[in-house]
Amino acid sequence: MNRVVIVTGGARGIGSATCLRLAAEGYQVCVNYRSNLIAAETVVKAILDGQGEAFCYQADVSKEQDVIELFDAVEEKYGQVQYLVNNAGQLMKQSRFIDLELNRFDTILRNNLTSCFLCCREFIRRSPTSGSIVNVSSVAARTGSPNEYIDYATAKGGMDTLTRGLAMELASQPIRVNAVRPGFIYTEMHADGGEPGRVDRLAPNIPMQRGGSAEEVANTIAWLLSDDASYVTGSFIDVAGGR
Ligand code: NAP
Repeated sequence: MNRVVIVTGGARGIGSATCLRLAAEGYQVCVNYRSNLIAAETVVKAILDGQGEAFCYQADVSKEQDVIELFDAVEEKYGQVQYLVNNAGQLMKQSRFIDLELNRFDTILRNNLTSCFLCCREFIRRSPTSGSIVNVSSVAARTGSPNEYIDYATAKGGMDTLTRGLAMELASQPIRVNAVRPGFIYTEMHADGGEPGRVDRLAPNIPMQRGGSAEEVANTIAWLLSDDASYVTGSFIDVAGGR
């Protein structure tokens, strides 16, 4: 049977590792990207070279119409979407709370939380009789990221609440909704957050004494998404080296 998945923000980092992992397991993958066509095409090429199935589609998933068109495109290509990984996320430069601008706060909420809301809602509106959603949250939802990114942590906290509530609302269908909460993972996101070497700086504070890889997060996403996790919903897995 076909297993069709959308991975939002799939062109790099945890998203691209997830696309590659799911394609290797036989999913038909839509690699969603916002701006980086070349990176998205590179992911698709790697999948096709490995005899997998994938295509990429540009959509800013913080925009309602883009999300509708994304789902239309995937349905047209592969049929009904039964799996969704809400991975798209954004970090801005480290800042004290007092200096956060309203415009930035709104942008961070739109890209990390509204995007998740829009994609989950579209997924459900297309009425799959069953399915699985994994939201990529963050340990920041627990820590609050003081002095750095309270805006981002707030969005991820909202994502956790959405995950729990939606999981309960959909449990009897059954559509499963779960989340992973990565800790410090080696991706380009930290450069966007103002400190490319952040993971190495903080590694000594992590119980396992190292940062994580995008593949280690992708492995956990793949498990939660799959039927191997068939009795798991409304759950959170920290992928954070014990942090
Ligand atoms: P990344 O390398 O910066 O990748 C994030 C991706 O999301 C980018 O490809 C970006 O696309 C895309 N994106 C952002 N907003 C989007 C939108 N509105 N529509 C479509 N795509 C959008 O980051 P990452 O580290 O792999 O992070 C992936 C997820 O893990 C994020 O949700 C992040 O919050 C979470 N996470 C990461 C860490 C970590 O340490 N790396 C820790 C905890 C949680 P463009 O490049 O085109 O903008």
